[in-house]
Amino acid sequence: MLARQRIYSVNYSKNLALMNTFSEKVLSWFDEHGRKTLPWQQEISPYKVWISEIMLQQTQVKTVIPYFEAFMESFPTVNKLASAPIDEVLHHWTGLGYYARARNLHKAAQTIVSAHSGQFPQTLENVMALPGIGRSTAGAILSISLGQTHPILDGNVKRVLARYFAIEGWPGKKAVETALWEKAHDVMAKTRVGHYTQAMMDLGATVCSRSKPKCEKCPVAFNCIAFASGTQSDFPGKKPKKTLPVKTTHLVVLRYMNRVWLQQRPMTGIWGGLWGFYEASTKEEVVEWLTQFSNQPRPAETMSFRHTFSHFHLDITVFEHQLESKPPMHVADSNNGWFDLEESNSIGFAAPTKRIITDIQQRSLRE
Ligand code: SF4
Repeated sequence: MLARQRIYSVNYSKNLALMNTFSEKVLSWFDEHGRKTLPWQQEISPYKVWISEIMLQQTQVKTVIPYFEAFMESFPTVNKLASAPIDEVLHHWTGLGYYARARNLHKAAQTIVSAHSGQFPQTLENVMALPGIGRSTAGAILSISLGQTHPILDGNVKRVLARYFAIEGWPGKKAVETALWEKAHDVMAKTRVGHYTQAMMDLGATVCSRSKPKCEKCPVAFNCIAFASGTQSDFPGKKPKKTLPVKTTHLVVLRYMNRVWLQQRPMTGIWGGLWGFYEASTKEEVVEWLTQFSNQPRPAETMSFRHTFSHFHLDITVFEHQLESKPPMHVADSNNGWFDLEESNSIGFAAPTKRIITDIQQRSLRE
């Protein structure tokens, strides 16, 4: 351990001396290898960069591209997004996960219209005040779309800087994050800041990858401490392990011919605002709920699976009950009702709801 610390300190002083060349090397690399043809890189605007940055959180570029294009087709301006029903926005998010991102986009668009006359705010402080936008995303939007000098520190950039400077510890810890922000600020380009921001994200995503970084192709390898000491996998430090708790739930598929009964979930909590099946804590509760539709509820278990959130596992058991006669329609209202499985509905589903619907459709084809 002592030997390794000594290597770090020797290289660290060398790095300080060469720090001003970091951004130049990154920019030269970007000119040759950076991505420049992505849909949000054409006719750049703060709105486009904002939508792409939010979609790219936790999601890979190739997955985001079709979602981004469909989103821009339906909501080409912040005004269109602000005035759209939340259901329509969530529908565009179906499959992307982390639905709070879509709800925050919608809320933020409404704030931009009401507090900024529909113009995307242009100061870091005002952008960070919008729901769902942190310091790094705000910096990315303003540097890429308006050329303002703000560093960013997304997951990719954290990895590059943690390795380059051998910053130990888990970046979720305040002290480690602060040290990384300082470095991000120190090495920030003074010109072509939009390209630099893009370059850092690309470098982390394509070269300084989580496993097996391609150091031989890295423009800053010469001064990278982790590369020099062969300790790339030590950085960034891992999150202390915590076993996720397991929760259980029951979902009820009520069917009548080609239709299923769905209801919209409350805006807060898991799958907020999305449409899904009735949820019950116990089988007795399942039967009790079904009595409003049938005198003889006979729910059959059709499938069970685990859905994992960032903070817990959810073990889901699915019960199904098929109605033989026309159900009472009076119980339907704007937050619940019958949905035709053969029609494409313009509402947002959570991933487990989609999985169950797909299972029903596949079984129907076999019947
Ligand atoms: S040399 Fe390797 S570890 Fe260092 S920044 Fe480049 S890719 Fe990452």
